[in-house]
Amino acid sequence: MTPDADVIDPEVDPRATWAVDPQEVRRLAEHVVTSPGAGVHLTRSPLTDAPLAQVPLSTPEDVGSAVARVRLAQRLWARTPLRGRARVLLRVHDLVLDRQSEVLDLIQLESGKARASAYEEVADVALVARHYARGVERYLAPRRVRGLVPGLTGVTIHRHPVGVVGVVAPWNYPLTLALGDTLTALAAGNGVVVKPDLQTSLTTLWAVDLLLEAGLPEGLVQVVTGDGPGVGARLVDSVDHVVFTGSTATGRTVAESAGRRLVGATLELGGKNALYVADDAAPDIAAEGAVRACFANTGQLCVSVERIVLHEGVADAFLAAFVPRVRALRLGAGLDYSADVGSLTSAAQLERVQDHVEDALARGATVLTGAVHRPDVGPLFYEPTVLSDVPPDAVLSTEETFGPVVSVQRVRDDDDALAVINGSDHGLNASVWTADVARGRRLAVRIEAGTVNVNDGYTAVWGSTAAPMGGVKDSGLGRRHGAEGIWSTTWTQTVAVQRGTHGGWGLGRLYALPAERWTRVFTGALRVMKALGLR
Ligand code: NAD
Repeated sequence: MTPDADVIDPEVDPRATWAVDPQEVRRLAEHVVTSPGAGVHLTRSPLTDAPLAQVPLSTPEDVGSAVARVRLAQRLWARTPLRGRARVLLRVHDLVLDRQSEVLDLIQLESGKARASAYEEVADVALVARHYARGVERYLAPRRVRGLVPGLTGVTIHRHPVGVVGVVAPWNYPLTLALGDTLTALAAGNGVVVKPDLQTSLTTLWAVDLLLEAGLPEGLVQVVTGDGPGVGARLVDSVDHVVFTGSTATGRTVAESAGRRLVGATLELGGKNALYVADDAAPDIAAEGAVRACFANTGQLCVSVERIVLHEGVADAFLAAFVPRVRALRLGAGLDYSADVGSLTSAAQLERVQDHVEDALARGATVLTGAVHRPDVGPLFYEPTVLSDVPPDAVLSTEETFGPVVSVQRVRDDDDALAVINGSDHGLNASVWTADVARGRRLAVRIEAGTVNVNDGYTAVWGSTAAPMGGVKDSGLGRRHGAEGIWSTTWTQTVAVQRGTHGGWGLGRLYALPAERWTRVFTGALRVMKALGLR
């Protein structure tokens, strides 16, 4: 890894009006596993383009050192009683709430998002920490199941941590996606190496600080920084389970590497999520919910809505309520709650959004509002955009835009809506709005998506940390949250004890029966077990 060409010397360069105090950056940077000559990376805030921080880089070799350190610390952690692990998680819960203003600033400065969207990350970490702290004993306790011969075969299932988990996190939810999955893996008894996106590594470093303050043993969580194909790929090739959140294309590469090494991978990838408004839904309520579902985090949210599907019975009323609400959204770069929608996070994201919109317009789409770049607010701001008449061959119809753009489409009935919603290669999240909850439930189970929210956009599922969350089709493999989330970083061991082989019963003598007699005895036993109604 070569040093970044755009590095600024903060001691001598007057351009350096740093958005984050360089001394604080240097302190946090001590959590990065790096080596001499690895270089530094200069990040700029998407809100203003001001220099933000210079973060040390790791080399692919540093990944090996990070994994080795974690492996050492993890051996002790795996033996720490579950209550001890839970205590750390509960302290994380309290600390993240107490120190939220610090991290909200950091998240906003690094990602450009509005403060309310940054707050979602704080709340999520608190939810995950509480859930696994309180649930870890139930999730991981050894479990007994019926054995081969009831009463004689005692079977217990144990769960062991896989060892070292690699968390590869993207830039869109830097606290949630780096720390949330780390907490889950820690609760299971693992150690973790995290690779954040370079744009948002300060938030991850802040999170490691928090973990140490909460009493996590030194060495158990390490951070490596660097590019995806170099440092990220090396991490994937070095750990015992990978938790990856990001694009479908990279997810496939990660899955291939994990598959070659026969280690597990949890992949949460892109979506092209749909929101259906049924004809009995209250237009105002559905419109309010849809605004949040489409434009939270400036649309850079894996579960956010990019397609609105409207029953023709409600379409006009919905649009009359929705479009003015979208137009009224306030864009802003303040580190406070004054803005509804923040900036896009990178020039690449802005370009992608503009390309998708221009392509749709060139193919005949109509702008209902937005479709305007707003450099007057900040270099990467883009107005919340609603398009109609987007043809199926437009890129926007099939590919994830990951920005503040939604298309609307009318359908005749529920079956028509389901055909549109399911006609996507993605299957992450969906939303259904109806006054008839039973109808909502019936529709939900016919939707090909890992999560479906009835009368909510995405928070109902995401915030329900006891339930699994993830995608089908091109949207991923495996689940975070709930039992599946914590079990994915463990391996099961079945211990079966055959009773009565020694001592008075002498069942051990059965092993010596000639094969023909033994099969007769066993066939009889199978018949009895069925007759007794055993499973
Ligand atoms: P990406 O998949 O390239 O990067 C995500 C993370 O993976 C980053 O930390 C990156 O450094 C790392 N990475 C990249 N290549 C890797 C490799 N070969 N091995 C291991 N790690 C690697 O995503 P991106 O370029 O940041 O964003 C592109 C698109 O991905 C977005 O426009 C959006 O569609 C999608 N995305 C989805 C989510 C989500 O929450 N599901 C998050 C971010 C991006």
